[in-house]
Amino acid sequence: MTAIILDGRAMGAEIRSELRTDVRSYIQEQGKPPGLVIVRVGGDAASGVYSKAILRIAEDVGVQARLEQLPALTSPDELRSILLQLNNDDTIQGILVQMPLPGHLSQKMVADTIAVSKDIDGISPQSAGNLFLGLPSFLPSTAAAVMEILERTKTPLAGKRVVILGRSNVVGKPLAMMLLQKNATVTVCHSRTINLSYFTRQADVLVAAVGRANMLTADMVRPGATVIDVGINTLSEGGIVGDVDFASVREVAGALTPTPGGVGPLTNVLLLKQCVEAAWLQIGEYKQSARAVQ
Ligand code: NAP
Repeated sequence: MTAIILDGRAMGAEIRSELRTDVRSYIQEQGKPPGLVIVRVGGDAASGVYSKAILRIAEDVGVQARLEQLPALTSPDELRSILLQLNNDDTIQGILVQMPLPGHLSQKMVADTIAVSKDIDGISPQSAGNLFLGLPSFLPSTAAAVMEILERTKTPLAGKRVVILGRSNVVGKPLAMMLLQKNATVTVCHSRTINLSYFTRQADVLVAAVGRANMLTADMVRPGATVIDVGINTLSEGGIVGDVDFASVREVAGALTPTPGGVGPLTNVLLLKQCVEAAWLQIGEYKQSARAVQ
């Protein structure tokens, strides 16, 4: 068997086109585009690349986005006060704070400070709580991207066995909640899981979000399974690979996302989508959200 390749770039392009239409109707109604601010503290190289990518997509879909670049030595009080100003700024509908933060700044403080209505990457405890309770909520965009791929490809989930490798707050845990909401039977594995293959081989849908190059090999995959590769790993010899050993797993899986070109291209697009949804919600218009897990 050779797996069907699930093309995240093509899905991202489809969503961008839907977003352009949505933003046009928002502008017609409000006379101005939705506003997004990316707050970046210091100079982490990877977050610089992500910021630029998000700004490019924002421009493409018509969202007015800007980067608020703060010095690495910004104090916790200064950062908090900037976030509070942004919470009260009517031109801003979505706030994204780039991680990682410099060591003296707490992610918890940021999550506690961003207004829930502008928390477009679902990092606040209230957003996480709403997701846990099955209430509409902004979702961590990477986990949302995995769900988007499964939904757009009409992958059956109800009653299916889904195994997630990784239990981080941004991917594994929120994804488990979203999949439960879709009536999947979910197993979450992590670094202390004993006999990982025992679990992975039972999966109808297998999601790898670990951060270890090519760790998921063909012998760990049930023939015909759908495999979603979240991992992004930079090789010492250059190049980027996922957590899935693409060459061997494609011979066993039924469907498989590539890296690059799978989950990655959707993540930032979904962030923008949640920004536009936030904008509608802030003027009291509830647009049924594909992200808000009902
Ligand atoms: P993370 O916070 O480092 O979490 C990694 C998870 O993998 C942890 O739960 C860890 O277990 C688990 N793990 C580590 N070694 C393992 C092993 N041998 N077997 C099973 N589980 C193991 O990482 P993350 O932020 O969730 O990101 C995961 C990967 O996704 C990274 O490669 C990251 O670059 C990528 N990523 C991609 C996107 C995208 O847009 N495509 C976005 C975000 C992240 P413990 O909890 O026990 O430590």
